[in-house]
Amino acid sequence: MMYKRIVLAVDLTDESILVANKALSLCQSTGADLTIIHVIESLNYAYGGDVPIDVTDIQQQLKETASERMAILAAQLDLPNQDTCITQGGIESEIHRIAKDKQADLIVVGSHCKHGLALLLGSTASGVLHDAPCDVLAVRVKKD
Ligand code: AMP
Repeated sequence: MMYKRIVLAVDLTDESILVANKALSLCQSTGADLTIIHVIESLNYAYGGDVPIDVTDIQQQLKETASERMAILAAQLDLPNQDTCITQGGIESEIHRIAKDKQADLIVVGSHCKHGLALLLGSTASGVLHDAPCDVLAVRVKKD
């Protein structure tokens, strides 16, 4: 079965290109369209709605930085059938929402080998896998 729409979730760190290249290869071999998504966690959401300052400016700055980084990443991939999406909210829930919206059949995320406390807290990749609306590919990202 060929994938038709792949949703690639990126945190827009330097590692994103490693994960993106895997999604790119899959798109090239299956002819799938690509949606690249980055989620800006709402500061109110991250701090339980208990932030005693106006975070509008910070949130706007995060959006602008994300847009710049997303444009660079998209240019590096240079795939004809790709679109990008920067959204705000909870990371896993937004990835699921966009995947459903786009009727994606595969979500691609990066995955770090975690241990200790990080393992107990879980990872974005395992969060995305839980209740995912389609297949999920976790691309192993090594720390070095
Ligand atoms: P983490 O578990 O936080 O180390 O992240 C692993 C992977 O989750 C990243 O490589 C991305 O694929 C995805 N991810 C993490 N943060 C975000 C974000 N803010 N927006 C979209 N995807 C993300």
